[in-house]
Amino acid sequence: LNVLLIGSGGREHALAWKLSESPRLKRLFAAPGNPGICEYAVMCALDITDHAAVVDFCKREAIDLVVVGPEAPLVAGIADALNAAGISVFGPSQAAAALEGSKGFTKDLCAEAGIPTAAYRRFTDADAARAYLAEKGVPIVVKADGIAAGKGVVVAATLDEAIEAVDACFAGAFGEAGAEVVIEDCLVGEEASFFAISDGVTVVPFGAAQDHKRAFDGDTGPNTGGMGAYAPPPVMTDAMMARTMDEIVRPTIAAMAARGTPFKGVLFAGLMITESGPQLIEYNVRFGDPECQVLMMRLECDLLDLLCSAAAGRLDSAPPTFRQTPALTVVMAAKGYPGSYRKGTPIGGIAAAEAIDGVKVFQAGTALSAGKLVASGGRVLNVSATGRTIAEARERAYRGVAAIQWDDGFCRSDIAWRAMERGA
Ligand code: ATP
Repeated sequence: LNVLLIGSGGREHALAWKLSESPRLKRLFAAPGNPGICEYAVMCALDITDHAAVVDFCKREAIDLVVVGPEAPLVAGIADALNAAGISVFGPSQAAAALEGSKGFTKDLCAEAGIPTAAYRRFTDADAARAYLAEKGVPIVVKADGIAAGKGVVVAATLDEAIEAVDACFAGAFGEAGAEVVIEDCLVGEEASFFAISDGVTVVPFGAAQDHKRAFDGDTGPNTGGMGAYAPPPVMTDAMMARTMDEIVRPTIAAMAARGTPFKGVLFAGLMITESGPQLIEYNVRFGDPECQVLMMRLECDLLDLLCSAAAGRLDSAPPTFRQTPALTVVMAAKGYPGSYRKGTPIGGIAAAEAIDGVKVFQAGTALSAGKLVASGGRVLNVSATGRTIAEARERAYRGVAAIQWDDGFCRSDIAWRAMERGA
């Protein structure tokens, strides 16, 4: 099979690595790709916002499956354009991508389907939103409805903070994404990421992970795209996974199908595991980055087979298989990230890191300059490892980090701290 992979991050490097293991893979293309993905795929200079150009490329290269990594092309309707041209795609339609694209849409769907999530109200008017805040009190959560790169959510401890967040949204701080505001109750518990794969009707669990959003140790500092992840998280017991499938994921897939907008692709549920069970915080319509890296490190079955059958609407109801061994990823970012940072700084030592048992380095914001690997983004390397225990995977991953030569990089030193506290 010929496959086109869309994206350029560590998530896509991990997907490319796993796809390349499939005996069914003939040619893998990546748009735009990165130097790490280059090892497994032919890079193509395709403008992925130009859907007609992507369709033309797929026809020319006889692409059998398109795998979309990031959310932006999905929300922009790339799957619709490909489907209309008869090209098979792993990823939801624009209508189904509303599960990530509009928080208000997802909250209404949860309310209709009886899916456990924080109580909420939607607002398009600042005065009404402020009145609701005064009535509810704090703590309370204020969210811009649309996608705001993780910056559109404020968990407010004071009323002033909450009002400020509402005003910022309506003042246009997040553009169109903030034209509507969702205000919801604050949930208390431990967060986890849960994944499921669906062909629109059938849905199977695809494991769980825990990520680390804050920049610095002890979950301090600003929010980032994710500084590390590990799997499986102890909080997601088999019973909790089963409840998440029954109470959250299956009703969502059924509700989307009933609306005539079936969800095909990977559904990523951001969960709060509360005293009363799993509650949905948010949906994403693609793999998490860096959660994808740890899922791929553990995946046992053929990824290409799985994504093909989901795209074709004939997913096997037997869940995909994972190895027992845990996996952990440490993100190395450029100093200054998520604020301003330098680009073009040299990186070495990847081969030395990968010489360590169980270690694999996925590349994110990297580029080649005069044949040498340099940093070209905020999150740059994902040093990943498997081990017999989470502690062993962690020890190996940090040995990998130590083998990397990159003066301008930093990472958190406490990935998987929750699991460590539980003695994992
Ligand atoms: P954006 O849409 O701006 O990209 P996002 O998709 O990252 O943001 P969420 O995942 O909905 O936004 O929220 C971000 C974080 O805020 C969550 O990971 C969680 O820590 C916290 N949070 C969101 N909703 C709640 C809630 N109801 N109760 C407690 N914490 C919450």
